[in-house]
Amino acid sequence: MLVLKFGGTSVGQPERMKKVASLCLATPGKKVVVLSALSGTTNALVRIGDALLEGRSAEEEISALERHYLDFVPRLYDSDSFRAIGNEIVSRYFIFIRLLAAGQFDQKSYRELLAQGELISTELFYQHLQERKVPARLLPALHFMSIDENEEPELEKISQRLKPLISSLSNVDIIVTQGYICRNHRNEIDNLKRGGSDYTASLIGAAIGAEEIQIWTDIDGMHNNDPRVVKNTFPIKELTFEEASELAYFGAKILHPSTIVPAQKYNVPVRLKNTMDEQAPGTIITSKDSESIVKAVATKDGITAIRIKSSRMLMAYGFLRRVFEVFEQYKTPIDMITTSEVAVSVTIDNNTHLRSILTELEKYGTIDVDENQSIISIVGNRITGSEGVLKRIFDALEHIPIRMVSCGGSNNNISVLVSTVYKEKALIALNEGLFGLKQ
Ligand code: ADP
Ligand code: ASP
Ligand code: MG
Repeated sequence: MLVLKFGGTSVGQPERMKKVASLCLATPGKKVVVLSALSGTTNALVRIGDALLEGRSAEEEISALERHYLDFVPRLYDSDSFRAIGNEIVSRYFIFIRLLAAGQFDQKSYRELLAQGELISTELFYQHLQERKVPARLLPALHFMSIDENEEPELEKISQRLKPLISSLSNVDIIVTQGYICRNHRNEIDNLKRGGSDYTASLIGAAIGAEEIQIWTDIDGMHNNDPRVVKNTFPIKELTFEEASELAYFGAKILHPSTIVPAQKYNVPVRLKNTMDEQAPGTIITSKDSESIVKAVATKDGITAIRIKSSRMLMAYGFLRRVFEVFEQYKTPIDMITTSEVAVSVTIDNNTHLRSILTELEKYGTIDVDENQSIISIVGNRITGSEGVLKRIFDALEHIPIRMVSCGGSNNNISVLVSTVYKEKALIALNEGLFGLKQ
């Protein structure tokens, strides 16, 4: 059994959605098909939700989104009867969105609003399969996908719910479900954070012990550098789970940061494919050991670096524990850490509790804070011990001020922290220094 996930751009136009159906039909065997919302929809829902939370009217934005769907429907379906079904789906969802908007709008309503994108895209797609007379089933993700009070997916429970559901559908080859959405520990509608449909696919793949998880998107696999910033990049054929995990976590947007975790735990290969060019080989991610070379560079923005200086306490045992406990107390993960004899620097990517964290840390020393930083991660199998890699990295970054360096934490990752204003320059320099590619 396969899990196939199609992202927003892959279903964002009626012709693309039809192509997705054809790709599913061309793939032999039984498969779970995970869909995102049409591209632009979740961003629009975020704008609507923000306006409503602030007490502003969102009617203009809601109407614009509705018009987008009313234009989509006649181009997706061929017959009048299915166009009528499509219009009914759109009306139903927009009645509900306006109901949410008219009510007491709180964080719970906001999360419910965000879920509408995946719910509507899967219904429209399912009806398209019906029109093509393809035996398929729509399996609501809200019936099996759940997270606990720490927002961690409940993989065991998901598996227990999903396995019997899927085996009961023995005569259907295409099982369609929503990416991104889930239920939380209060049984409310919630989500797996932006880009979370990849994570849904991986969780399903792990939960049912799939043969392979395929992530279909708008690019031909994981590239060696960020294609949004650097012009001359190329797709990588093979990656290990560890390498892909580091790249996803450190900013390669093609994968949600947590996607690899369940796949790796249950050893299910992840294949990245291009919906616009299905012949392109893409990237295969497995446990297979690979060459010890630099594979790719990724970057994560919105980083804050915090330095705690304390000549008196740093070398005393228990000091680091107390510092880390502050971050634990505010549920704020640390990405990079470096220490010297008199100071420790850490980075975080979530500033929600920054003020409270700083107030607590001031008890332990003098604090310096640098916001608007970017982590640049250089990833490859066992690169930390490879001869010459560090020299090539630092030669390439010769003219860029580096705030922190992290090497040796994992065998597969060397990270540097730079101010975001230097990010583009650094990525271009690394593309030339590590891969010989000029901009
Ligand atoms: P989807 O809507 O299918 O989930 P995303 O926009 O989330 O697609 O992810 C695909 C995008 O990720 C690509 O269009 C590309 O711009 C971006 N991206 C960032 N880093 C990388 C990388 N290293 N390799 C490939 N794509 C990347
Ligand atoms: N639709 C959601 C988002 O835009 C989830 C996803 O596309 O993966 O973040
Ligand atoms: Mg995505």
